[in-house]
Amino acid sequence: MHDTPPSVPDFTSWPSFPFEGDLQVKHLDDPVAVEPPRRGEGARECTACGAPDDAYIWVGERWRVRAMDRPTGLPMVLILESRSHLDLGDLPNLLAAELGVMTVRLERAIRSLDGVARVHVNRWGDGSAHLHLWFLARPYGRLQLRGTFLSLWDSILPPISEEQWRENLALVAAWLAEFGGRPLAEPPRIQWQAPSSIAAQSSAPAPAPDEDDAIGVIEAAEEIPEPDGGEDSAAPSTDEPVDEPGRR
Ligand SMILES: [Zn+2]
Repeated sequence: MHDTPPSVPDFTSWPSFPFEGDLQVKHLDDPVAVEPPRRGEGARECTACGAPDDAYIWVGERWRVRAMDRPTGLPMVLILESRSHLDLGDLPNLLAAELGVMTVRLERAIRSLDGVARVHVNRWGDGSAHLHLWFLARPYGRLQLRGTFLSLWDSILPPISEEQWRENLALVAAWLAEFGGRPLAEPPRIQWQAPSSIAAQSSAPAPAPDEDDAIGVIEAAEEIPEPDGGEDSAAPSTDEPVDEPGRR
């Protein structure tokens, strides 16, 4: 602490900051003159538009909700998407109004899960041009996870159990379906011969529209293709958001 350079901001000493030890502020690259297109922009394919309904946990006439492709550290992480290929500022009044309703509904559904204290709602949109809002559940009692670093903690904490995760997805999907639309996530099927295992499900919540696209919330802030990753068409993996702690 005493030799922390003065340029490291105060939040690095907050209880909610996930890291400790010597920290350095990264050097900023020069700004680019023209930003690269996001997914669903310019000639780039839109992952959301190309995703079938069964990649989602709940679908309605104008909105869909999807999960990550596997459990992560938080009790629930969901993404709300419009069906229409629009970004936030382009929504017509009907969809803008419905976005409010859907946001409140989804927040309440996730907050109703056991062990969830708060639901944080985020929109970044640096990776995809198709409107998508993130809903992150903070576990009850984990005061250290309060605030903006929650999205980092999601990738740091050990994943919740697959069974709990599927059960939570099914509960949220069922909650949303009370208001209409179609729930697509089912609760886990227990094999009573082997209680600890969960039967594979054909209509399970994931895979997400683009599996590589939904690994953890950390991408939400970092959903930017690797700058030196090469051509999108030649190497689809370069489209992946940053997901490995070791990657730049
Ligand atoms: Zn789209």
